[in-house]
Amino acid sequence: MADLLTVTDAGLYCAQGDFYIDPWRRVPRAIITHAHADHARSGCGRYLCAAPGMLVLRSRVGNAAPIDSLRHGDTLSINGVEVSLHPAGHVLGSAQVRLSHGGTTWVVTGDYKLEADPTCDPFEPVECDVFVTESTFGLPVYRWQDPKTIAEEINAWWRANRDAGRTSVLLAYALGKAQRLAAAVDPSIGPIIGHGAVMKMVEAYRASGVRLPPIDRVPPRTRKMGAGRALVIAPPSVAGSRWLDIFGETSVAMASGWMTLRGVRRRRGFDKGFVVSDHADFPGLLTAIAASRARRVLVTHGFTDTLTRLLQERGVDAAVLPTRFAGEAPPDAAVVDGEDGDSENGAGDQATPHASPEPDDRGEEQE
Ligand SMILES: [Zn+2]
Repeated sequence: MADLLTVTDAGLYCAQGDFYIDPWRRVPRAIITHAHADHARSGCGRYLCAAPGMLVLRSRVGNAAPIDSLRHGDTLSINGVEVSLHPAGHVLGSAQVRLSHGGTTWVVTGDYKLEADPTCDPFEPVECDVFVTESTFGLPVYRWQDPKTIAEEINAWWRANRDAGRTSVLLAYALGKAQRLAAAVDPSIGPIIGHGAVMKMVEAYRASGVRLPPIDRVPPRTRKMGAGRALVIAPPSVAGSRWLDIFGETSVAMASGWMTLRGVRRRRGFDKGFVVSDHADFPGLLTAIAASRARRVLVTHGFTDTLTRLLQERGVDAAVLPTRFAGEAPPDAAVVDGEDGDSENGAGDQATPHASPEPDDRGEEQE
């Protein structure tokens, strides 16, 4: 029987159902696993996403885009292919796509993680014949600590900075990581301030029913704000920019799975690195692959060759599926995505003689 998905110039295509999953070009019909820039492009004819991710996707692809939503676990037939969406635990509304046709079932994970995250539904194992998995952190060195331990580390760093009169700047992707961190830290330490790109997604999260602590936005023409006390959550692109000047003396930390490697932190000159990712770590990838009970595993974006070889050595029928997804871009990588047309930096209202504009974080939120 023909495969249910093939890689075409426009993306992962299901010929039987005549639709794409996370296409990287504009196509008539797209199923979207989640709203990060490398998975959700604007300009498609029609979108389908998981219901909890509707408002987040809307904020990415625009008000005019026709978006259908499906509740987790409900089934929709598209040209005879049974489609259902299941939580991926990556960001709000992130879904694995399950396809069933002619007695064969495929699951496409998109990005996923197994750690607890109060801002989205937890990853749900879905059994299938063919499992298409990401592999962003598919090397044994990548192992995450308990999220509670990381939150305590961040709180201790913030408290120590505050006691020394320094503002804490925490760099994190604007969609998902920023909200997850805001929900995890202790707001009694001081005020939390969000960059414009972060606040846009904070609004979408709140409108979707996710509870977050109070987060202040930076008003136009602000000369000074939160200095010495606040936790500022901002996308990585603000590192080294004049936008940080209003916060006085700062300590700048990066929150990323890549912080596992000390060299990465040192090269970029971060004062501190927190190892926290919205992707599965190496044991998490193996756990999810085993839980799928798939007889065939296709490995995409990340350490594809290494993970595929390792699975093959363990007797799994595994192969690389080449896609253009970026996963969690290393913080010292060049901006990956130049095609994403929508503006989301919120810089306009910051561009005053008093406050430096918020740098454009476009293309840096593939995580
Ligand atoms: Zn993602």
